[in-house]
Amino acid sequence: MDNIVIFGAPGSGKGTYSAALVEHFGYAHISTGDVLRGEIKADTELGRIAKGYMDQGQLIPDELIIDMLANVYDSKKGSKGVIFDGFPRTIAQAEALKALLNSRGQDVTAMIELDVPEEELMDRLLKRGQLSGRADDNEETIKKRLVVYNEQT
Ligand code: ADP
Repeated sequence: MDNIVIFGAPGSGKGTYSAALVEHFGYAHISTGDVLRGEIKADTELGRIAKGYMDQGQLIPDELIIDMLANVYDSKKGSKGVIFDGFPRTIAQAEALKALLNSRGQDVTAMIELDVPEEELMDRLLKRGQLSGRADDNEETIKKRLVVYNEQT
């Protein structure tokens, strides 16, 4: 099974490239941001906790996201491959991913980094905010997410 990590700042195009890889290779897509937005929509306990962090542009605590990821990964068992979009974002998450995969006889197959200048990221995210209405795509929260990316990811 292929385990592909797609890595890059908010707005770098992880979701867009993941969709192309899913289409071309038939992989399953794990977007931690999408899973969290689903939890918020379903008004689960995890969703309620996550919303507070996401609205502030902060990362969800490692323990919560790592547990969630393990469950989602196991639900994709039997697929040709998986694309990890938005995970890992901290060193602890990277170590947890390695341990999770190794304990299942798997490893990271490849990692793709999308490297985009910061002015371009800001421009894209502001436009996305106008189109999609995503709560965290406003100027103040975008700036915080970029700081968090540079410092923690
Ligand atoms: P973007 O890459 O544009 O920030 P995402 O949808 O990947 O968009 O993430 C949105 C928010 O979800 C993040 O700002 C963070 O609060 C939370 N999140 C997503 N993935 C993780 C993760 N791996 N660890 C912690 N928080 C996460």
